[in-house]
Amino acid sequence: MVRVNYHVHNEYSSDGRGSTEDFCQTAIELGFDEICFTNHAEMLSLETGDWVVDLVEARQRFEQLQHEIERLQPEYPELRILLGAEFEYRPEWVETLEALVDSVDFDLIIGAVHVVDGQQISSSGSVGSYFKGRDVSEAYGRYFEAVDEMLDWGGFDVVAHLDLVKRFGVKHYGPLDVKPFESQIRGLLEKMTSKGLGLEVNTSGVVQAPAEPYPGLQILKLAKEARVATVTIGTDSHVLISFEQGWEVGDLILRQAGFTELTLFSHRIRKNVPIEVEPEEGE
Ligand SMILES: [Zn+2]
Ligand SMILES: [Zn+2]
Repeated sequence: MVRVNYHVHNEYSSDGRGSTEDFCQTAIELGFDEICFTNHAEMLSLETGDWVVDLVEARQRFEQLQHEIERLQPEYPELRILLGAEFEYRPEWVETLEALVDSVDFDLIIGAVHVVDGQQISSSGSVGSYFKGRDVSEAYGRYFEAVDEMLDWGGFDVVAHLDLVKRFGVKHYGPLDVKPFESQIRGLLEKMTSKGLGLEVNTSGVVQAPAEPYPGLQILKLAKEARVATVTIGTDSHVLISFEQGWEVGDLILRQAGFTELTLFSHRIRKNVPIEVEPEEGE
C-alpha cells in the first residue's frame, strides 16, 4: 500500500513537539511516501485557560508551516509534504474556522469531536467527569450525536477518529460493542457518503487502551457497506517516536474490511489509488 500518514501534529500544534524537518526525515527513514501535518487550529489561552481559535494567530501559525513545507519540499523529492489541519467542531468556532479555510491553502482538513456537552472525552486530565454517572448507551450515544452535528456542518474533508469516545470509554465499559450503536453508526456513515465526507483510520488507538484503530474492523465493514469512498490513514503522532504507531494494523484492517482504494489529497482535491500494488508479471 502507498505509505501515507495523514494525521500528524508537530511543534505548530498546541500539543505537538518536533520540527517539520525532523518529521519529514523520520517519514523518509520509515519508508513513507506522504506526510500530512494536521495541527489543531485552536490554542490554549494562557489568560483564561480556555481553548480558543484566534483567526490571526492561527493563520500566522499555518502560514509559517506552509513556508517551511515550501522550503523543504524540493530537498525531499521522495516525500510529498502536505499542509492539513484538524478542526474541532464547536458551533461557536465555525465562523472563524471557515474564515481560516478561506485564507490558507490547505491540502486536507479533518474534522473532530473531542468535547461533548462541554466535557473533554479524549484528554487524560479531566476526562473522568464525562463518563461519571453515564451508562455506556448515554456516553457513546451522546458522542455519536455530536459527531452527527459535525457532519451536518460538513466544513472539512475527512472525519477524524470516528469512535474516539472508546479511548477512555473502554476503561469504564470494556471493549466497544458496536451492536447497540449499529443503526446510529450506519446513519453517520450513510450521511458521510451522501455528503462526500471521508473516513480516517486513526491508528493511535492500537497503542492506547482500545488496542485497535479508531474506528475498528466492525465499523470499517459498516463503512464499506455504506459505500464510504474516501478513506485515509494516519497515526495521530504528536512526537517523532510515535510516528508509525499502529500503522501496519490500520493497513491490515482496511484490507480485511474490503477496502481496495486509499484516498490521496492535494489542495483539498481527492484522488483514489489502489491499496494493492499489482504484482509485476512473472512474480
Ligand atoms: Zn483528534
Ligand atoms: Zn490529532
